[in-house]
Formats: sequence, structure tokens, C-alpha cells
Amino acid sequence: MADEPGRLETLRRYNLRDIAPESPFDRITSLVRVVLDVPMAAISLVDEHRQWFKSRDGFDASETTREISFCTHTIAARGPMIVTDARIDPRFNANPLVVGPPNVVSYVGAPLVSRDGYQIGSLCALDRVPRDYSAAEVGLLAKFSALVVDTFELRQIATRDFLTGALSRRAFLDTAAHAIMRHARDGQECALLLFDLDHFKAINDRHGHAAGDVVLEAISACCQTLLRAPDVFGRVGGEEFAVLLPGAGPAAGIAIAERFRVAIANVTVAFDPDLRVTASFGVASLTHAIVTADEWLAGADIALFAAKDSGRNRCLEATATPEAV
Ligand code: GH3
Ligand code: MG
Ligand code: MG
Repeated sequence: MADEPGRLETLRRYNLRDIAPESPFDRITSLVRVVLDVPMAAISLVDEHRQWFKSRDGFDASETTREISFCTHTIAARGPMIVTDARIDPRFNANPLVVGPPNVVSYVGAPLVSRDGYQIGSLCALDRVPRDYSAAEVGLLAKFSALVVDTFELRQIATRDFLTGALSRRAFLDTAAHAIMRHARDGQECALLLFDLDHFKAINDRHGHAAGDVVLEAISACCQTLLRAPDVFGRVGGEEFAVLLPGAGPAAGIAIAERFRVAIANVTVAFDPDLRVTASFGVASLTHAIVTADEWLAGADIALFAAKDSGRNRCLEATATPEAV
């Protein structure tokens, strides 16, 4: 597919994963069910290996491999796609979604096209009987798919910090709370990096607040280049940032923090090529003792304070509280 990395980056920026089900999307899938008179509808997003459902109505699967997804074909078609009877369509007649539950027979999907032109998934209606769809019905589905993307965009504006593009504190804490739930449910490890720029006030004092903003933007841009697909980057204070690293345990957390620390120390800005900024890091990995995102951040903050206190430009790990062992 053309520019697959750009497509995946757009998907990542929308930050749609790992947030509790959201009613606007569920409302759209239930509307599609009613308007097209189908038993099943879904908002499907296609990432590197899988399709997963931001919302689904009428069936249970939460994700499938990319190979068996109908929506991958809609994305490739770059326009609405209709399958009137999958049982006699050579592309789908052996598909597990067709030969087994949910026993899809007919499909109509409209691609979800991001504002920057990437096909990130599809909005689709599914039935267990052969169906054809009129141009008017396909047109309605396409309008609903545009509404889904509009909602992605508005949601992004609502959850992003304007200057740096990082998640706002509120949205970051919501994502952290979701990671805590995942850890409680299936033990998925997650490390939290919290960092604060060192002596940042001195930069504002010397070069002015606008120059300080340029530095914040440059450091954020640098951090965003270090993120893997599941990582989440937030601005949790004025010159304080945080990164969630799903899948990373304590050792990986501190190693990745080191990588961020070194990269930040090498960031340069045009207005003063000699200027360098460092950051101090606190790293806290999830334990079962951590119940709220605020507690988690507070644990990392203690380590961050110790990093400041012991000389700045370093990464320290939060020590487990006795009840966390
Ligand atoms: P420390 O190493 O102890 O963290 O020192 P510091 O100077 O970074 O810490 P301090 O808390 O004294 O100052 C933080 C500064 O960050 C002061 C504040 O004006 C600046 N700041 C916070 N938000 C912004 C912003 O959005 N833009 C700019 N330019 N400056 C900001
Ligand atoms: Mg600071
Ligand atoms: Mg600060």
C-alpha cells in the first residue's frame, strides 16, 4: 500500500486505541444498522497486523487479522465496496468470518479517509443474507463514514495540546487509567516516564517566552520521533511531559528513558545553535498497588524530584512502596 508508514502514523495520532468505548461512535454504528436495516455494523480500523473495531453493533469479535478483513479490500478499493454474496465470491468464500461466526454473507463498506488523505479503516454494514445496496444507501454510508472521521478530528483537537501536539494532561491520565485496567485484567506491563525540562525558566528569561515555546515544540517533536506505535506522549504540565510505554517492564522503561534523555540533550534550535536543554526523568512501572493514574504519576514524580535533587539530566526509577512488592 502507498505510504503505509504515513497511514499508520495518522492512525497513531488519532489515539483511538486503549480508551473506553465511546458513545459517539456507538451511536453511529447503531444508526447505520437502522438506516440500512442490517443486523451488524462496525467501525473498523486497520493497523499494521490487525483490524480492530472502534465500535461494533450486533456481533462479538473485537479484532481479526488483517488478511481476513473485508475492510482491507475497501481500503485498497479507495471507495465504497459491496459484496453481495461472500459465499460465492472467490475473495471471501473461504474466509473464517463467512464460514463461521458471525457468518457474514453480504457486506457494504465505505472507507474512513483522514483529513490528510489516508485510508485508515472503514465503516461497514454486514448481513447474514445476500444483499445488494442502492446508490442512495451507499451514499448514506459514505456520509456516515465522513461523520466518523469528523468525530476523530474533533476528538483529536479536544485532547491535544495546541503548542506541541502532545496529549493534554486530562487525555493522558485517561489513557494511563486504561493501562492500569489492562494491567489488572491481563497483567500487561507498562512503564511511565515523567520528565521535566531542567532550568527552563532561564531560557525564557534569556530569550523570551516565544523562544521558550520554540524549544518546547522542538523537544516534543524529537520525543514523537522516538515513539513506537502503542506509545503515548502527553504534556502534563508547562515544561513537564510524560510517556506511556505499553509492554515495557522496569528494565525496558529505564533504558527507553535514557534514550529520550540523550535525544533531548541533543536537540538544537535555530535561534541559538549553541543552546542545549536537558531533562530529568522519573520512571515508574505499573504494579498491582497502583490503582489510579494520579497515584502512578505521583510515584514517578517522587523519582523525578530525586533526579532533580541529585544533579538533573538523569533518569531515576521509582522505588516500590512496601505494599507494592
Ligand atoms: P527545574 O530544573 O527545577 O525544573 O527548573 P525550571 O526553571 O525548569 O523550573 P521552574 O518551575 O522554576 O520554571 C518552569 C518554567 O517553565 C517557568 C514557566 O514560565 C515555563 N513555562 C511553563 N509553560 C511554558 C510555556 O508554555 N511556554 C514557555 N515559553 N514557558 C513555559
Ligand atoms: Mg523545569
Ligand atoms: Mg516544571
